[in-house]
Amino acid sequence: MENITHKFIVLSGKGGVGKSSIAVNLAVWLSMQGKSVGLLDIDIHGPSIPKLLNLEDRKVQIKGKKIKPVLYSDTLKIMSIGFLLQNESDALIWRGPMKHNVIKQFVTDVSWGNLDYLVVDCPPGTGDEPLSIVQLLGKIDGAIIITTPQQLAIVDVKKCLTFCKQLKLPVLGVIENMSGFICPHCNNRIEIFKGDGGKEMARDFNVPFLGSVPIDPALARACDSGKPFIDFDSQNPTAQAIVSAFEPLLVLGKQIQTGTAFYSTSQNKNPANKEKQNKMRIAIPVTASKLSAHFGHCEEFAMVDVDEQTKEISNIVKLQPPGHQPGVLPQWLNEQQADIIIAGGMGQRAQQLFAQNNIKVVIGASDQAPEQLVKAYLNDTLETGDNICDH
Ligand code: ADP
Repeated sequence: MENITHKFIVLSGKGGVGKSSIAVNLAVWLSMQGKSVGLLDIDIHGPSIPKLLNLEDRKVQIKGKKIKPVLYSDTLKIMSIGFLLQNESDALIWRGPMKHNVIKQFVTDVSWGNLDYLVVDCPPGTGDEPLSIVQLLGKIDGAIIITTPQQLAIVDVKKCLTFCKQLKLPVLGVIENMSGFICPHCNNRIEIFKGDGGKEMARDFNVPFLGSVPIDPALARACDSGKPFIDFDSQNPTAQAIVSAFEPLLVLGKQIQTGTAFYSTSQNKNPANKEKQNKMRIAIPVTASKLSAHFGHCEEFAMVDVDEQTKEISNIVKLQPPGHQPGVLPQWLNEQQADIIIAGGMGQRAQQLFAQNNIKVVIGASDQAPEQLVKAYLNDTLETGDNICDH
């Protein structure tokens, strides 16, 4: 395991929320970025990775005392209990200690070699398997939690967050899957499951919200045919939504390892209603720890949560923004529930887009640290100069 630089584990509270589909696409996407990647499926009772990658007829080989993982490509190695079963429909009836032993073998006896990333797809819930893998992997960058927006799924996913907290496992972020459906006939968005459960939960638990992925029949078809969407249908808007959710992970993993990530898994006390609590989130584009004059080219966004009444900062999360094509950042900041952006300069069009996304824009701030800017803003002493951006 010491030859593996980054380890991500993918968790969900419930089954059927798209956890394995996202895990597969994450592993394939990382390998498409030129990384060497391993994908470990520890869903002992319902391994779906072989099917999702069209590798159902493949079996592992034993070389010496080592198990050779199945190769999806030169840079993506896969291991799953599915490769050891005689038939796809075989059921394993195993208790905790047996599962722990097989997961241990997957970790210690598989010739993973040098990997940039290991992605582990866990079964849903917080049972024996995720506990075993967290104990066996050693240092883990963190968990990616997949949920769907409806309240029933959210209740269970909160247990995942508590699980992470108890095991001191960093949470890299939450991805809300099956978040609305774009009708192919009228292009209107239909909310199949009401609510913004994933986003709200991420905010309540002070963990990054990585993004939302709509229900897309093309994604379901890709899963059924074992062709990872991200590879075979990369221009599809849903594939692009998946990529924007993955992009921050490259940076978050590094931040966690160097101890520069700012996150916490403690739940805010009264998550009920933002207005009632006077909670506000201020986004500040940052480069080298100070406000970046050109918000589209900043290194990261500091998301500063404040209590409007006490004028206290309650939390700061640093998030890696997606690309800065027109419209992307206002929408992304809206998804991150930003209420205000404090910027150096900003063009007219961007100002309009922020307004459309219900984000107030404060322009002309100088290159100070986010905390200083926010404190000055709250005390009405923020000095603003000219808008240095005129396009
Ligand atoms: P889990 O691992 O959480 O049990 P899966 O990844 O196996 O869930 O997905 C369950 C089913 O939902 C699969 O048939 C998959 O193709 C489908 N699915 C997942 N995400 C989406 C989506 N965004 N749009 C359409 N179908 C999806």
